[in-house]
Amino acid sequence: MTEAAAPDPHREIRDAVRKLCADYPGEYWRKLDRAGEYPTAFVRALTESGFLSALIPETYGGAGLGLSAAAAILEEVQASGCNGAACHAQMYVMGTVLRHGSEEQKRKYLPEVATGRLRLQAFGVTEPTSGTDTTSLKTFARKEGDKYIVNGQKIWTSRAEHSDLMILLARTTPREEARKKTDGLSVFIVDMRKALGNGLTIRPIRTMMNHGTTEVFFDNMEVPAENLIGEEGQGFRYILSGMNAERILIAHECIGDAKWFIEKATNYARERSVFGRPIGQNQGIQFPIARAYANMRAAELMAREAARLYEAGQNCGPEANMAKMLAADASNEAANVCIQTHGGFGFAEEYDVERKFRETRLYQVAPISTNLILSFVAEHVLGMPRSY
Ligand SMILES: Cc1cc2nc3c(=O)[nH]c(=O)nc-3n(C[C@H](O)[C@H](O)[C@H](O)COP(=O)(O)OP(=O)(O)OC[C@H]3O[C@@H](n4cnc5c(N)ncnc54)[C@H](O)[C@@H]3O)c2cc1C
Repeated sequence: MTEAAAPDPHREIRDAVRKLCADYPGEYWRKLDRAGEYPTAFVRALTESGFLSALIPETYGGAGLGLSAAAAILEEVQASGCNGAACHAQMYVMGTVLRHGSEEQKRKYLPEVATGRLRLQAFGVTEPTSGTDTTSLKTFARKEGDKYIVNGQKIWTSRAEHSDLMILLARTTPREEARKKTDGLSVFIVDMRKALGNGLTIRPIRTMMNHGTTEVFFDNMEVPAENLIGEEGQGFRYILSGMNAERILIAHECIGDAKWFIEKATNYARERSVFGRPIGQNQGIQFPIARAYANMRAAELMAREAARLYEAGQNCGPEANMAKMLAADASNEAANVCIQTHGGFGFAEEYDVERKFRETRLYQVAPISTNLILSFVAEHVLGMPRSY
């Protein structure tokens, strides 16, 4: 597929990721998908190659690369037909520790996360009753001497069964007593190896794609006070500060997915012959693929711009959000077109199209739904009244 016109500063990284991913073809993912199993071997290979520690500074044992390099890694994973959702959080969840943790916490955790000895894959924010309205979450951490006692529940805590640590957002001041609803929330680093069976229960949720997501329950779970990140009560700000990076990375994953679908659809349209000619000779087949390509490229430009602003230390909130939305739309469109191009075979497991179709659908909803991005743009970019 034609690349962006400007020279790609991450060509070598992209080639190396592609090479690694070639060892994990469709058959590998299909088998896991059928069994609902976690891609342990793939995640280990990606960790050992250093790709998942791209954003950890060299002082703490990582590669010390910029966000655009991390984005290129995830994009290539998806464009290769693999699924980075199994481990993308290992790349950026540590950002909360890096930006707001104490020097001691950084030295304790980051080098171990960089080697993969410690897996920091779980991010516990969403709750069943609060949903997108994060500040009304109910999980409460009560301080008692040198520890916090946590009670409550999270939902959609992905990869919790395959992670040693969890970044947890909980209330430390009841919402009614906090000055603002965004105050009184705190972030903790939970060592799940110690907590499991000692107040922490993890229950898997089966979903339409193989995602390893769970619900987690806290019943008087103890967290040492030294595991509080930053200041008590400031946790919401800490979580928000990582959102732009997350949105930009997910946008690039969607771009990767869109590229995979478009390439797959194009190849099939050239090869499949019906009525004595390739189906790709019909404009009814060509145009939807061409449109999906154009929309993917537009989203790609927005995503690259968001990463550029982020790396330049400039405000990238609007671009990060818009990139995530446009890229999720582009991958969703490309997925749909790819199924249509394949006709009946689009539904057959062995083509991988239906699996990727299910996987990419998630990004219309998570980690932030399209409606909430539109609300952000309407309010913060266009200055219209807040709608909720
Ligand atoms: C597979 C999967 C993995 C996930 N992984 C994680 C994870 O690791 N950690 C984590 O913390 N969370 C995770 N999530 C949660 C995810 O971030 C939320 O599902 C998402 O933010 C939407 O929240 P909700 O499901 O509670 O939907 P709700 O908040 O209940 O919203 C339902 C619908 O209503 C719309 N809506 C709500 N309010 C408004 C409004 N004011 N205006 C217009 N529309 C509105 C939403 O856009 C959505 O379409 C995951 C979710 C899934 C499905």
